[in-house]
Amino acid sequence: MTKQKRVLILGGTSDAAELAIRAAEMSEVEVISSLAGRTQRPLVASKNTRIGNFGGIAGLTNYLREQQIDLLIDATHPFAAQISFHAVAAATAATIPYLMVLRPAWERTSGDRWIEVTSHAAAAVVLPELAQRIFLTVGRQELAAYAHLQDRWFLMRMIDPPSNDSIPPGKVLLERGPFSLEEERSLLQHYDIGAIVSKNSGGDATYAKIIAARESGIPVVMVQRPAIPDGEHVADVESALLWLKERL
Ligand code: NAP
Repeated sequence: MTKQKRVLILGGTSDAAELAIRAAEMSEVEVISSLAGRTQRPLVASKNTRIGNFGGIAGLTNYLREQQIDLLIDATHPFAAQISFHAVAAATAATIPYLMVLRPAWERTSGDRWIEVTSHAAAAVVLPELAQRIFLTVGRQELAAYAHLQDRWFLMRMIDPPSNDSIPPGKVLLERGPFSLEEERSLLQHYDIGAIVSKNSGGDATYAKIIAARESGIPVVMVQRPAIPDGEHVADVESALLWLKERL
């Protein structure tokens, strides 16, 4: 029997979890998943899962060498830019193949009222003109950018409770997607939402709110993605599995 290839999958997304499960079904592959450890109840997809930071590019490079990783797949969230830059640099230093799985961004379609901005600070500037009651779906790490908007009311949805006091006024909903269109429609109606703030995460799990906003003519302040490193990338799990098979 040929030696198994050891694959490190940088995760924290549903795509990474699916990829880890499906790659582990290949007899020639040994999967190790890596999570940053941000959420209290992480979705652990592999029996081999390590949790926590590596310690920058040097830490990740050491890990790749010490653990004799053969292939590195970065399936982190499109907004997790730092780890992606670290991954490509560490794979280069360790001279192993590297792939990034980057789901396509959502595209504006007919009926969408998007205001595209490049940062949360910019989103906070345009918001007061748009609505009194705002659905903030940006995750708990970004709430501080909106905390000064004390005369607006925010519905804030996230997986874990916010960690500091610097949050805008309103209500916190602790929920993990996916969310259905029915749920999103009734949430917008129930809380009388006048605008949404979203990151352009792409994918299906959180897209229903964009459809619900379109149906109701609600503006969406869409935070664009950060720059990502150059390097080989694919758009979905199927393509990542093909890339993997080609290297076994
Ligand atoms: P980030 O800004 O790109 O990364 C910050 C630091 O966290 C990295 O430099 C690295 O620390 C560590 N890190 C990040 N992902 C890691 C992983 N999978 N395994 C081990 N260490 C990791 O990332 P972030 O935006 O804070 O996101 C953290 C995690 O949450 C990511 O895994 C991402 O997939 C997931 N996530 C992020 C978002 C988002 O909107 N940002 C949304 C959903 C899920 P060292 O440099 O010390 O190694």
